[in-house]
Amino acid sequence: MFLDGVQMVDAAYSTPARFHRVEPAYRMTPPSTPLPNLEEALAELAQWNVPTADELVAQMRTYLPSAEGELLKKAWLYGAAHHHGQRRKSGAPYYMHPVAVAQLIMRMRLDEASICAGLLHDVVEDTPVTTADITALFSEDIAHIVEGVTKLDKIPFSRTEHKQAENFRKMLIAMSKDIRVLLIKLCDRLHNMSTLEAMRPDKQQRIALETLEIYAPLANRLGMGWMKSQLEDLCFRYLYPDDYTSLKADVGQRRTEREAYVKRVVALIRTSLSAAGLDDVALSGRPKHLYGIYRKMKRQNLPYAQIYDAQGFRVLTDSVEQCYRALGVVHSKFTPIPGRFKDYIALSKANNYQSLHTTVMGPAGQQIEIQIRTKEMHRIAENGVAAHWRYKEAGKAISPKDEERFTWLKQLLEWNAGVSDNDEFLDNMKVDLFNDEVYTFTPAGELKVFPRGATPVDFAYAVHTRVGETALGAKVNGRITTLNTELRNGDVVEIMTRADSRPSRGWLDFVKTARAKTKIRNYIRQEQRSRALDIGRDLLEKAFRRGGYSLTRAEKHENFAKMLSRFRTQTFEELQIQVGYGKIAADEVVRWLLPTEEEGEPQPPPPPSPRRAKKMRGSGPATVVVAGINDVVVRLGRCCTPVPGDDIIGFVTRGRGITVHQYRCPRARDADPLRRIDVGWSDGAEDEVAPVTVRVHTGNSPGMLAEMTQRFRESGVNILQANCRAVNSRRAVNEFEVEVKNADQLASVIRGLKKLQFVHKVERVRA
Ligand code: MN
Repeated sequence: MFLDGVQMVDAAYSTPARFHRVEPAYRMTPPSTPLPNLEEALAELAQWNVPTADELVAQMRTYLPSAEGELLKKAWLYGAAHHHGQRRKSGAPYYMHPVAVAQLIMRMRLDEASICAGLLHDVVEDTPVTTADITALFSEDIAHIVEGVTKLDKIPFSRTEHKQAENFRKMLIAMSKDIRVLLIKLCDRLHNMSTLEAMRPDKQQRIALETLEIYAPLANRLGMGWMKSQLEDLCFRYLYPDDYTSLKADVGQRRTEREAYVKRVVALIRTSLSAAGLDDVALSGRPKHLYGIYRKMKRQNLPYAQIYDAQGFRVLTDSVEQCYRALGVVHSKFTPIPGRFKDYIALSKANNYQSLHTTVMGPAGQQIEIQIRTKEMHRIAENGVAAHWRYKEAGKAISPKDEERFTWLKQLLEWNAGVSDNDEFLDNMKVDLFNDEVYTFTPAGELKVFPRGATPVDFAYAVHTRVGETALGAKVNGRITTLNTELRNGDVVEIMTRADSRPSRGWLDFVKTARAKTKIRNYIRQEQRSRALDIGRDLLEKAFRRGGYSLTRAEKHENFAKMLSRFRTQTFEELQIQVGYGKIAADEVVRWLLPTEEEGEPQPPPPPSPRRAKKMRGSGPATVVVAGINDVVVRLGRCCTPVPGDDIIGFVTRGRGITVHQYRCPRARDADPLRRIDVGWSDGAEDEVAPVTVRVHTGNSPGMLAEMTQRFRESGVNILQANCRAVNSRRAVNEFEVEVKNADQLASVIRGLKKLQFVHKVERVRA
């Protein structure tokens, strides 16, 4: 696709005019367009002392000695040519910025692809170059990284409240997918912060705030202490210019004094260590970064002069054994402060951070903090992405999941620091972090976080209950989608509503958030109540009319209030609902209120069998539970006699409560869907018994009945009634009404019966 990369670049580097790029055919550009303005670009960059491609390659070779740097050179030229003519606010050539970013990337010792991506990170956004061009000219890998960085730039950041900021940080990580995207983004931000001076004050504030809220903590999480400190100090300067200036002056003023103190302490420690034979250790004391001191002053409400531990001391040894010896020396020379000694060597932190920490009473009665570790441990702690994150955030709760993620991240960075050009490890970095959460936006740019798998319905309920209840459809990234579409990171979701649209029971099958689930259930329960209210009013009206009365008159009856309390209801509405659910018979209400007319209404109760009638009394079988309602009269359908364990469905029956059928019962299929109601077997259903009829077709021989009843006994099933009759001399039909606990027990009886030689067929009787 491209002219042989290496030769081409070499040629181009010496004679820029011959450096050509070949456009993909579909772009309809002449096949060999020279890199625009390369010569002028080179001249101008040289004038501004922008580091050259060779200088970058040399820097890269300090840690990737076997890299040839051809790709890096090519990227440098490509970026230089395309950014030519663009300027930063300061007037400097724009390309200074990508080159500076590339240098910061090298400070993190990332691979050549990352450095190239750093050089090219703004070309897609700011020049006509496309991601496809980068794929064609460089590699898919580099194109992906550039694309990722460009994408991160477009995320709107509008809120600064704490939780939102945390979510935002997580989202950045999640959207980065490839950790290099995030690291380049951090370098980009650091360089932009360091050149913020040229910006308008309001822009400075906004960018500094965003950096302090999002990027500095992110750098900290990733263990990049140096980057975090630099970002924070830059933010400090723009966000609190007065405090910054005065603290800087204070620090400057006391510098001599402090430096003398540090020197004194270092000398004291050094002498003691030498006396103990520890001559080779590296010893340092340096002031903490400004923003760190500032935070301490704020937290302790002290002026700078009284912040004693504004500098930290560090002892670096050659071996673990030396660490402990050094510690012994320090503790014998200075008095340790109780409770401040931490041994992270014996018990390394979850992220493998290793060091000894102690605080002692130093000279002049000031507390001093000392860290002791080997040089190797120090190298890991400085370079490793996550080496510092837990230490710095001590006291904050960190979930084990987070720990896992960062331990893993740190390991990756450790490999990076240890091995040089190993392509494999970068492939391992391309992993979804935080893949159990999904980050989405409202059209106004507000961030909404959901568990993975969440749908527009979850989103709608997160916006507002009313939006959820009237949701009709959704637009995701401007495209109309169904309500059960799974949301993805970065989706902008717009919910389309219609006033007469209603939640559907089916939504419960796919929503992921507890909030949406609860709201949908509430809605359905509410809906069932209002349906019961309608049915109840209807039934009462008819019952009163039969008694030559009306509902309105009944409400004015002198015993109306008494009647309500007789039926244990607070309001008339509640009474109607109870009637609607069948808990109270409408006729009974009429009979109670208008006793004189009672005789005219004979109510012959038709109990199918004495036992079943008994069961129906009170609140029905305790074995069936109705969604959202307690204490309802439930009847098991006579047509299909469901037993615990069967799939069942309920129907509101006028005046007779709820009838429960087997799910596949034809009666249930034919019933009015509006009367459907969710029912299920209660937990205790197993202990209850339900009547069921079993029909056994047999031959006709003596002793059969005894054998069959034996089978029922073996399965622990009680026979309520048996009806056996011979059809002819060879065949008989036997019906047993039995009590079973559940569908399993029934199945076991039927299996037992089928094993009998004379049994032709066993069936459960359904009407
Ligand atoms: Mn940039």
